[in-house]
Amino acid sequence: MEQSGINASGSRPPPSRVTGIHRPGASEAHVSFRSRTAAAFPFVSAAIVVTTLAVSNTSQPASAHTRPSAPAAKLTLEHVGSDSTAFNVIATLVLGPKEALLWDTQYHLSDARRVADRIAASGRRLKAIVLSHPDHDHYMGAAAIVERFPGTPVYMTAKALEEYRKSAPQTFRGEKARTPQLLPDSIVTPQPLPSTTLTVDGEKLEVIPDVTGDVGTGTNSMLWIPSLRTVLASDVVFNDVHPWLGASDEASRVRWRESLARITALHPVAVIAGHKKDVAAPDSPAVVAVMDRYLTDFDSLRKTASGPQALYQAMTRKYPDHVVSNLLRFAAMGAFARQGEAVREELTAVNKAWGTARLAYDSAAYERMLTPDFYVLMGGQRVARQDFIRQVSQRPPGGRLVRFDNPIMSLTRDPNKDEWIAVVLEKLELERSTGDGSAPDRMYSVWVTRDGYRRVGSGWQIAYSEAIGSENWMGKKPPIPNW
Ligand SMILES: [Zn+2]
Repeated sequence: MEQSGINASGSRPPPSRVTGIHRPGASEAHVSFRSRTAAAFPFVSAAIVVTTLAVSNTSQPASAHTRPSAPAAKLTLEHVGSDSTAFNVIATLVLGPKEALLWDTQYHLSDARRVADRIAASGRRLKAIVLSHPDHDHYMGAAAIVERFPGTPVYMTAKALEEYRKSAPQTFRGEKARTPQLLPDSIVTPQPLPSTTLTVDGEKLEVIPDVTGDVGTGTNSMLWIPSLRTVLASDVVFNDVHPWLGASDEASRVRWRESLARITALHPVAVIAGHKKDVAAPDSPAVVAVMDRYLTDFDSLRKTASGPQALYQAMTRKYPDHVVSNLLRFAAMGAFARQGEAVREELTAVNKAWGTARLAYDSAAYERMLTPDFYVLMGGQRVARQDFIRQVSQRPPGGRLVRFDNPIMSLTRDPNKDEWIAVVLEKLELERSTGDGSAPDRMYSVWVTRDGYRRVGSGWQIAYSEAIGSENWMGKKPPIPNW
């Protein structure tokens, strides 16, 4: 049950690859992606959005009251978006009267340069850059911005930095080799975030560190701006863009949804997603509920969908307006690839238990392990459940089973039912006393069977076993490895 097309590392595919257009000529691949998506999605690459939020002072943080004579500096936000070749990622500038802080740095060089242009045009001093999490679409542009504003510190939480050190150099080398003209010539070396409280012209910003979002390891950070009652949610929230689910799983998505609940608990007036279909679209906090529903839908549809394509289609029907559909396609493939691995592990344990039961002639275990409609098919003959149980519950006269190995050779999900089908190689050894005191006879038996497994509650039962073929050897080991 191998899924091709997923990076072994689970890392996100480059844009040229997610389209299925993968050519050695990287620039060519990029161009074809662009022309293809341009037709489907509105182009927002040039969009820059300024958000000014009027918020009453009644909810000012305590610190604001400690210096009542100094009027609170009014912050504004500017967002720089990108097109679908950069997954519609956004970067946000927090601007005070004199200072600026940059939250994420864009992916492609051209977009990062637009960010730098905006900073220059604002006339503010770029105080710091904070990278919300160690994903390349958020940090790749950093080098181009630091080049324009030398000496600007670049921060990441210590935990995110650990991840970054492991993956970023390799990701950068790979991406740079594929699409050299799209990226800066280097990546930055961030420093650990010195404090979760930052300021812009004295106005407090709170980093909410190391929550779980699209990075399953819990290295997504968000920025809470109390004076604007705004959350820069980065990749905890995707706004009309299919989220990146390739680095999360069902368990981490439970924690992801807890992060969403944390946003809601702040009662923000605006929530800025890390990816937006239209950078100028309103940043209503309602996006949090949509995100929560998306994750819930994905994990519940994954359980009923027959495969990646069906899951992709079901999600597309529910979220027809979301863009960057290749992220969903990848998420669907990844979910089933991972599911296959998990199921293989569970069924291997089931088979081990079955082998143990067979050696012990444990009919109570057979009763537990076989579905009520279980059957065996051998040489075109159908054996009903109870007949089979009777047969394998009795030791043959003068003999007994001394080996029963049954490793899974291949595993697929039955597209018509909620069952999994394994091809199993059964290796049996039967010992039989000769009755005259000499060494016992040994019979070696090999069966290749196609077995069905059905999920029952939190476990599994075996639904059928159909023999594909078998061979027996008397007194001589079969020519099969590990025998
Ligand atoms: Zn992202």
